[in-house]
Amino acid sequence: MTQPSSIPLQSPASEGGPSSPLPPVEGSAHTVMSARDLARHYTVSRGMLRPQAVVKALNGVSFDLQSGRTLAVVGESGCGKSTLARVLTLIETPTSGTLAIDATETTAAHADLKPLRARVQMVFQNPYASLNPRKTIGQTLDEPLAINTSLSQAERAGKIAAMMQTVGLRPEHVARYPHMFSGGQRQRVAIARAMILQPPIVVADEPVSALDVSIQAQILNLFMDLQERFATSYVFVSHNLAVVEHVADDVMVMYLGRAVEHGPKAAVFGKPLHPYTKALMSATPAIKPSERRVKIPLIGELPSPLRPPPGCAFAPRCPYAVDHCRQVVPQLRMLEGRLVACHRVEEIQG
Ligand code: SF4
Repeated sequence: MTQPSSIPLQSPASEGGPSSPLPPVEGSAHTVMSARDLARHYTVSRGMLRPQAVVKALNGVSFDLQSGRTLAVVGESGCGKSTLARVLTLIETPTSGTLAIDATETTAAHADLKPLRARVQMVFQNPYASLNPRKTIGQTLDEPLAINTSLSQAERAGKIAAMMQTVGLRPEHVARYPHMFSGGQRQRVAIARAMILQPPIVVADEPVSALDVSIQAQILNLFMDLQERFATSYVFVSHNLAVVEHVADDVMVMYLGRAVEHGPKAAVFGKPLHPYTKALMSATPAIKPSERRVKIPLIGELPSPLRPPPGCAFAPRCPYAVDHCRQVVPQLRMLEGRLVACHRVEEIQG
């Protein structure tokens, strides 16, 4: 989790403009996932005699994910990060935009999604709910192998035993059911299930937020060990900036379905530029006095995606908002080594 990466400009596609990826990363890393202007909109009923409304849960997100690297997606609940996770794992189809996995376009007509689904696996937030209570751990881990490979039963059993050992489960656990495990062990099972096909990409949606704090570090270290071993790329969704700082190579801060700041971890954590990123980071407790930041209060709630504010979606909560912000949507642009979407970012720093 150390090299710099390529960060594509978030396209103003929702406003009709082209996508503009930055130059690719130097070295042996290659792009395993490429998203351009991904959007996911939902039509919702507002009752009889009222027209339906459109919720823009995801509204034009672009990025390139390199092999062996971690892109962390952060933001408050409702910012669209979990919708992004479901689109990336092909659980949901994007309303518009494109998504390529290993250079294969998933959104093309007649795309064969079955082999692509095996290449991008998901770890869910709640290990209690994500495992089938009626299946033993052995059956849970065998299912993806039986569906996606032509391995014999004995070969599958060998792979399951090896993966259980890799994630820190004992051989006798293979015949046990999920309710017989602790939360941390269940998440180890969920990670083993995601990794058993050795996919190039794993999308983890808040994978430690349901766990005790004492267990979180163990699971995060397991993710990092597995990445080093298998060169897996992660999209790591979290609202917890301490977790993100631990695992990320690149960080994308989302607000109301859009990326507002996106860049290498060192740039974004070292000097956040967007007022929303600054507010999020100032709200994170720091033990060392030298790392404490000036508090920027986050006033009010995230606006409803049913009625997004015009112009900059952050304007109703932004202490720096002016009329121009309330009229014109700011686009991502390159500044100090990352992309940031704010009209006044230079003035604010000065
Ligand atoms: Fe604040 Fe305006 Fe920047 Fe939006 S564009 S974050 S309202 S200063």
